[in-house]
Amino acid sequence: MLTLLPLQEVTEAQQSAAKRQHNTAIEVQKRSLPSRHLKETLFANLEHPRWQEVAKRCLSCTNCTSVCPTCFCHSEGEMPSLDGHTSEHYRQWDSCFTAGHSYMHSFVLRDSTLLRYRQWLTHKLGTWHEQYGRSGCVGCGRCITWCPVGIDITEEANVICGESNHA
Ligand code: SF4
Ligand code: SF4
Repeated sequence: MLTLLPLQEVTEAQQSAAKRQHNTAIEVQKRSLPSRHLKETLFANLEHPRWQEVAKRCLSCTNCTSVCPTCFCHSEGEMPSLDGHTSEHYRQWDSCFTAGHSYMHSFVLRDSTLLRYRQWLTHKLGTWHEQYGRSGCVGCGRCITWCPVGIDITEEANVICGESNHA
């Protein structure tokens, strides 16, 4: 495929421009998470008062999960045909911030924003390691950019894990 493309040799100017952009990108990355594997620390702090504080600000709007490149929550449904002979089973995007996502046998398991935010963060930064051997956060910052109330996952994780004086 590459041989079919009208590619040109890279120039030195382009190489140094790319290097400059790369270095600038590194320099502007000021935020960080307390550690790479946070399951134990997060689970030891499930009753940390910060969960309540962040839940008061969080609108459960689902923006963070909509823009996150690793979020994959979905719901499933059934669409019967009008003649009643067939039915189409479908899957659609969902978010762990909706009430419906934790609806089971007539009750909503995570019936508060606190429980939904805690589920999102502990899964993304903690239990994801057990499932996939890596963090569910790639550090892109999209959830921070698109949160309408300015919630910052790195700030919350640092406070809850006791590595910041934001509390
Ligand atoms: S910073 Fe992490 S949690 Fe936020 S959108 Fe990017 S990958 Fe998802
Ligand atoms: S984008 Fe912000 S307000 Fe919306 S659900 Fe995520 S953390 Fe809550």
